[in-house]
Amino acid sequence: MKIHKVFIYTILTVLPVMTTNLQAQNGDQILDGIGETGLIARYLFDGDAKDWSRNNLHGTLNNSKAKFIDDDLFGTVLSLPADNKAFVTLPGEAVTGEESLSITGWIYLLSDRQGQYFFDFGKNTKSHFFFTPMGTTEKQGYQAGIITEAGEYYTESSDIEASKWNHLAVVINVPSKSISTYVNGKLVSETKNVELDLEHVFDNDSSNKNMLYIGKSLLSDNAYLHAKLHDFRIYRIPLGEKQIARIHHNSLSGEETVVNEMKDVADDLPMFSKTSPQLYNEYVSSVPNVEIETVVGYLPRLPRYVKGVYRNGMEGPNVRVLWPAPKDNSNVRTAGQYTITGSIAGTDLKPKAIITVKEVKENATPTRKLEVFNLDEVSLNPDPHGHNTKFIENRNKFITTLAKTNPDDFLYMFRNAFGQEQPQGAEPLGVWDTQETKLRGHATGHYLTAIAQAYASTGYDKALQANFANKMETMVNTLYGLSQMSGQPRETRGEHVSDPTAVPIGVGKTNYDSDLSIDGIRTDYWNWGKGFISAYPPDQFIMLENGATYGGQKTQVWAPYYTLHKILAGLMDIYEVSDNKKALEIAKGMGDWVHARLSQLPTETLISMWNRYIAGEFGGINEAMARLSRITNEHRYLEVAQLFDNINMFFGDAEHSHGLARNVDTFRGLHANQHIPQIMGALETYRDSNTPDYYRIADNFWYKTTNDYMYSIGGVAGARNPANAECFTSQPATIYENGLSAGGQNETCATYNMLKLTRNLFLYEQRAELMDYYERGLYNHILASVAEDSPANTYHVPLRPGSIKHFGNADMKGFTCCNGTAIESSTKLQNSIYFKSMDNHALYVNLYVPSTLKWKEKHVIIEQTTAFPNEDHTKLTIKGGGKFDINVRVPHWATQGFSVKINGKKEKVDATPGSYLKLSRKWKNGDTIELHMPFQFHLDPIMDQQNIASLFYGPILLTAQESEPRKDWRKVTLDAQDISKSIEGNPKTLEFNIGGTVFKPFYETYGRHSVYLDITLK
Ligand SMILES: [Zn+2]
Repeated sequence: MKIHKVFIYTILTVLPVMTTNLQAQNGDQILDGIGETGLIARYLFDGDAKDWSRNNLHGTLNNSKAKFIDDDLFGTVLSLPADNKAFVTLPGEAVTGEESLSITGWIYLLSDRQGQYFFDFGKNTKSHFFFTPMGTTEKQGYQAGIITEAGEYYTESSDIEASKWNHLAVVINVPSKSISTYVNGKLVSETKNVELDLEHVFDNDSSNKNMLYIGKSLLSDNAYLHAKLHDFRIYRIPLGEKQIARIHHNSLSGEETVVNEMKDVADDLPMFSKTSPQLYNEYVSSVPNVEIETVVGYLPRLPRYVKGVYRNGMEGPNVRVLWPAPKDNSNVRTAGQYTITGSIAGTDLKPKAIITVKEVKENATPTRKLEVFNLDEVSLNPDPHGHNTKFIENRNKFITTLAKTNPDDFLYMFRNAFGQEQPQGAEPLGVWDTQETKLRGHATGHYLTAIAQAYASTGYDKALQANFANKMETMVNTLYGLSQMSGQPRETRGEHVSDPTAVPIGVGKTNYDSDLSIDGIRTDYWNWGKGFISAYPPDQFIMLENGATYGGQKTQVWAPYYTLHKILAGLMDIYEVSDNKKALEIAKGMGDWVHARLSQLPTETLISMWNRYIAGEFGGINEAMARLSRITNEHRYLEVAQLFDNINMFFGDAEHSHGLARNVDTFRGLHANQHIPQIMGALETYRDSNTPDYYRIADNFWYKTTNDYMYSIGGVAGARNPANAECFTSQPATIYENGLSAGGQNETCATYNMLKLTRNLFLYEQRAELMDYYERGLYNHILASVAEDSPANTYHVPLRPGSIKHFGNADMKGFTCCNGTAIESSTKLQNSIYFKSMDNHALYVNLYVPSTLKWKEKHVIIEQTTAFPNEDHTKLTIKGGGKFDINVRVPHWATQGFSVKINGKKEKVDATPGSYLKLSRKWKNGDTIELHMPFQFHLDPIMDQQNIASLFYGPILLTAQESEPRKDWRKVTLDAQDISKSIEGNPKTLEFNIGGTVFKPFYETYGRHSVYLDITLK
């Protein structure tokens, strides 16, 4: 109610006295507190029909009589004159494949005639969605309608006034089966029981078949719109009343709503009463207190699971304890003892942790003991029945399409930045690499890595391998040529600036800017400093130092160091697989350029830069710089790596008083994928600096993310609070309370980065829980993120009831961040099956995937034969011989036993689930090791709402196949003593059935699905 009063006040008092206009839109206000991924497109219409979101869905004006005119309230607005047949078309893909839609916009009707269309979107006149501010020719009054062959739905009509600005909104909420309309932030009508799927309205297979008009109807006999328009937006989430009110309010007040600080209150999940049973917790009678020691300064690492006592002698799983998570280390600044009280979801139990803080020397951090195998040393095989595995299927989808790409497309914006002609056939990429997108070049970086990995992985097909060798050559030669031009005179003794810190403002400009338009881009590369390479001029780097925020304006930037990281990593990948010295030279040149600029900045400036939302996102450039230092043996690159320390997150503050290094959770509520690669960078910095804090940062971060922020598929982002699907939840261990955002969860590139961090931590500490997580994320997220028949892949993977995966970039012509990491993930699927000890005395078998390992140093070939996970056993055959240990992973889920046969004879072993089992002997040629690890069904509940859980069979997440959208969780009842009694099916196909509902592996699920179920134990 309060919010309505604010509006009345706003409208009555602000509008009449408004003399200046409200065109300024800065920083987060472009988002109005709604997460970035919720917004599909935004058209301000302040001089053009460009899309202000990051999706480049630019509109087109279809009649020259449409004019941009001055307006007292909004500055410049679009005016569609009467009967001039002027309208705007939007790209059809703006609505393709969406679950729900919300559309908002300002309209000033210049005529009150019926039959005017604010917008009309659809695949044809029989299937469309429209909004008529004065009613259709048949029915008077403001209304929205959806016509499909399956049915017609209209909202109740109401009246709006012409000759004044009105903010209109319409929301199609498919899971709630409703259509709602709003006027000036207030709900005016709601139509319920709408049985609709948006694929009835739009063509999801071929987006160019969708016609999206603003100001005109798909039915040609309707009148064109006579009105002024401002700030038209399309969202992929069903906005709630408060969100629409906020958009309306912010447009008039000019206030900013910071995207990371809002809770989306409208977007709640089904609520459960305090007394409703939460799975096994219903039967827990007590849990013991725990005693933990820590060292002064370091928060204790509290066990997330303790062994509970169950009623009636029931055997239950370990019990999840939720502990408070302080924001600093004030509890442990002096030696002594204190007690922490935790809670257990669905119970009144209050377990205690008694903490002893000791004044002793800090614990030592581990050294790196293992080494990875190169991609060309491990090859993927079909299963023993001759079937391609999911690994091979996905790899082939990517390799085939990558082989067809034209490197010149990926070089297009680099040549454009350096003012060079394009070779014949070169086409610019779309999505985040278009002419004016400030992230352009990011896909090129991923591409460099992908073709390097594809080259290393295609030893099985020499022609394919040669194709990738050529691509690498072309890419490096061109990038090298351009980088050599930067900061050098065009002709002998010509003017130039070779000092990276002295780059002048562009010719004819008054300041540094990020204008990349054909007319506005600067191409004076001779002034850019020696060694510079990017797909845009150096301005974005300089502007970031000067305080620029994230956004679409010329004064704003989009993560310049993020893009640079991809390029540098890709160049080093090419160098490492092909020894291309030019690739390394380019990387060194840019490393020197960055060193020159960042080494002269005060620490406060660096802290400010790296904490600026998205603007300061730098991927894992600290990792890349540490790696460059190791490859070149040049210490200054390690210095650069450390200049990227995210001081607040790593160390708490400039005095290094706490932070992740002291086990304080400093990343709650932050953007997940902005920060995960920074942690990987900390670990890589540790490798070369031996500074223990860097290891602690990585180790503590991993423990916290996988325990407190992880969904069952292994993903970690997707907050409702803060309302941003790309963020960690505002508080740890509150996935149900604050996670499961309607805008999606599990950004796929974040899991790519979590896997990278995980495997690297394992090289230091061989804890099985690391590779258990790796297996979970690899099978249930990465393998599950690719479309059935193409390399199209996911951004978010939504896990709310009845969700559907949305795949993009099948043709590799337009990349988001996740499309970028996807071409990396699927060209290196074999990279973590085996590791070796640095001294080559031990082998680690981490994953059970049919494959062949060539262990060159030992002159040994290991062949792994299995149909895992369609079978629960595997066989390792040793070709060659010698004395070494083979450490095999005993997965955490292998609770029904783990047996080992060597040369057909059963071995006596003590295999604990969640450990590695060491088999050591002098191996002979032809020796075989058979491992048998029976799968069993088990549940993975959400920590703070345990009845909402996922069903696993061994490592494989089984997903309920859904036929329609739903708002509630699918209810499933399972036998409390033995859940397998309630499940039927075939382990060989991994297809199961519970009460008539089909369950399949998530990686075999392409339609609607429920990953989480509401489970009752009986
Ligand atoms: Zn992403």
